[in-house]
Amino acid sequence: MKLAYDQSKCTGCAVCASVCSFRLKGLVHPGGTRIKFAYVSPTDSHVIYCRQCENAPCALACPQGAIQKDGKTSAWVVDAEKCVGCGLCLEACPYGAIRLDTESGKADKCDLCQGDPACVKHCLAQALTVQD
Ligand code: SF4
Ligand code: SF4
Repeated sequence: MKLAYDQSKCTGCAVCASVCSFRLKGLVHPGGTRIKFAYVSPTDSHVIYCRQCENAPCALACPQGAIQKDGKTSAWVVDAEKCVGCGLCLEACPYGAIRLDTESGKADKCDLCQGDPACVKHCLAQALTVQD
């Protein structure tokens, strides 16, 4: 499964980023979210999200083999034990969808909330959905 995003339905409320941050960190903070909201101009704003790529460039770039596919959700998941925080995965992702956690210094990315993405549940505009 993976996220799908319809920008034409998006209202720009940024609730997706807020609930992601709250779920992960217990507070709403732009630095704590895996899905990000980009405000480019009054006519261009959109979410930045992981595509769960077929041959994920982030996983291919990781010299530690720290990014592996979850067999149940098919999400690419970071193993924090293996990650050394080198940032090569960030450079490899064409979508800007992976980040280094400011507290742990380890890579952090969308794991689809283990199969029940909070951002999708809270997107009232249904701009975010789940695809098989
Ligand atoms: S919650 Fe939905 S409508 Fe709001 S910014 Fe995110 S994708 Fe857009
Ligand atoms: S983090 Fe980037 S490269 Fe890795 S699966 Fe997601 S979109 Fe693809």
